[in-house]
Amino acid sequence: MKALVFDKSGIENLKYTDYEDPKIGPNEVLIRVRYAGVNPVDYYTVTRLNVKPLPHIPGVEFAGEVEKVGERVTKVKPGDRVTIYGRIFDGTCDMCMIGYETLCRNGGRIGVDANGGWAEYIAVEEKYVFKLPSEFSWELGSSMTVSALTAYHALKEANLKPGEVLVVFGASGNTGMFAVQLGKKFGAKVIAVSRKSWLKDFGADLVVGYDEVEEKVKEFTNGKMADVVIDSLGGKLWNKGFSVVGVKGRIVTFGTLLGAEVSLNLSELYSKHISILGVNRGNRKDFVELLELCKDCKVKTHKTYKLEEGKEALQELFNEKRDGRIFLST
Ligand SMILES: [Zn+2]
Repeated sequence: MKALVFDKSGIENLKYTDYEDPKIGPNEVLIRVRYAGVNPVDYYTVTRLNVKPLPHIPGVEFAGEVEKVGERVTKVKPGDRVTIYGRIFDGTCDMCMIGYETLCRNGGRIGVDANGGWAEYIAVEEKYVFKLPSEFSWELGSSMTVSALTAYHALKEANLKPGEVLVVFGASGNTGMFAVQLGKKFGAKVIAVSRKSWLKDFGADLVVGYDEVEEKVKEFTNGKMADVVIDSLGGKLWNKGFSVVGVKGRIVTFGTLLGAEVSLNLSELYSKHISILGVNRGNRKDFVELLELCKDCKVKTHKTYKLEEGKEALQELFNEKRDGRIFLST
């Protein structure tokens, strides 16, 4: 088969080449990949993470058709459109036992700790494979594993309630566009922090710029400020996120695109009963709920590249002019 493969870190080492066809065991499903998302984690996979195996096929987020199933597989059959739950988990440790596969003690990530979906085919165990409802486009189907799941899990962990005010920083990003849409499905009022007006069509009640966020949130909430703030950018935007959260508010983070080191005013934190929550992707139960909940979700696509253009797709990821998601079509 054809695949994007690298044998040492660096975008320049990512090559579109022949790779041995994956073989399936009795519990495995062979997927003909149709679409794959391009995420920051893929960028880090290619440029700096420790991966296995080497040479490695990246690609944490993808969707496709079932080509073939092992003899013990019962949940899917050839021709089914599917995507995957991408956290590797053993199902037996204490975290798995409480439904937190995303924190599995012996866990990992498909695409990082095992080969991913930037290839014509991939073999994965049946427990990771989920049928896509017929409403799902390939773009939407290949946005569930990381982008949508992370947003959904973050809102669940923050216990976002109907009528509450949610502020989403980085609202036009891969996870941000889902946080906005899912926030509405939770019944919240959603303020998207972004310069992109299309977020209105994605359900945002208000789209505000970074420079005006404090004053706009104040105005919108009559001074009460936000109940939940999603700030996955970190760095210099952290203080802005902290400045818009109200009493008993929750700040959720799952990324550090602008930097991991931030400062924090502890007296403000405790006097307002503010909680800071770290989350990392999501659990299998979240994933099942999400596939049902997100049938009518939209995806904003910036550009779809061919599989052989993997290098260009990765380079486009941090282009300031990017407006929406980047995909690879196989
Ligand atoms: Zn486990």
